[in-house]
Amino acid sequence: MRIANLSGRLVLVTDDRAVDVRTASDGLFSSDPQAVYSRWEEFRAWAAQADIGPGSPFEAADLGAPAPAPRQLLAVGLNYREHVAEAGFTTPEGMPPVFTKFATSITGPVSEVTLPRGGHTDWEVELVLVVGREARRVSEADAWSHVAGLTVGQDLSERVLQMDGPAPQFSLGKSFPGFAPTGPVLVTPDEFEDPDDLELTCAVNGEEMQRGRTRDLIFSVPALIAKLSGVLTLLPGDVIFTGTPSGVGLGRTPQRWLAAGDELTSSIGGIGELRQRFVA
Ligand code: ZN
Repeated sequence: MRIANLSGRLVLVTDDRAVDVRTASDGLFSSDPQAVYSRWEEFRAWAAQADIGPGSPFEAADLGAPAPAPRQLLAVGLNYREHVAEAGFTTPEGMPPVFTKFATSITGPVSEVTLPRGGHTDWEVELVLVVGREARRVSEADAWSHVAGLTVGQDLSERVLQMDGPAPQFSLGKSFPGFAPTGPVLVTPDEFEDPDDLELTCAVNGEEMQRGRTRDLIFSVPALIAKLSGVLTLLPGDVIFTGTPSGVGLGRTPQRWLAAGDELTSSIGGIGELRQRFVA
């Protein structure tokens, strides 16, 4: 199953057409895309048997984030070995570095992003998951059953602020307006042949910068859910950015940053593509 946030309303997506959930369910489910995660099991059961009709075509530019207002947005750093090396850190062992991207940075999949003045803005394509069932001290074996679905995310990062001061400022450096685009759709894990092995790519003006596979995650999706839910309670609708593969601007020689006029595309096989244009 694929769902999306079309102009602020929850839709089911089939063959690139959208069906409005509130209308198709006769009001059983709200049009609020964030509200569905607190009734996820019930929603899946309804969607599996509903006679929803063919739907209507739509534009990607009208899509919002699949989970636009999570109570918690967690992001994981240093979760691919080659990225750890290019970033100049040591490989995490017990727990990966975890930070938040503040919720005001969330946007849909197609957007224009204003570059912070005097900054070095960098790209990080990431697999993003949305929690579908409360998770507290969940085992790896049980972890996937707590995931509503997967989407594409860009963990846009302003490196000057991120690395400034006596301790890194990951959360602030990654939370400028528009720095957390996600979408275009949320895909349930059962739609993938292997949800633990998805290909991610990222390009600037058509030039490929990143290509990786989630099987190379140091902490896999189940491992992350087990680790994180061992500390805090993951709530339905929470969003987790799982880390980026190598190829970011920080790790290139010479280093490269996004500039006004650049177009960034980020994709994951079986999900879709994000498209960001940058302005001064
Ligand atoms: Zn990241």
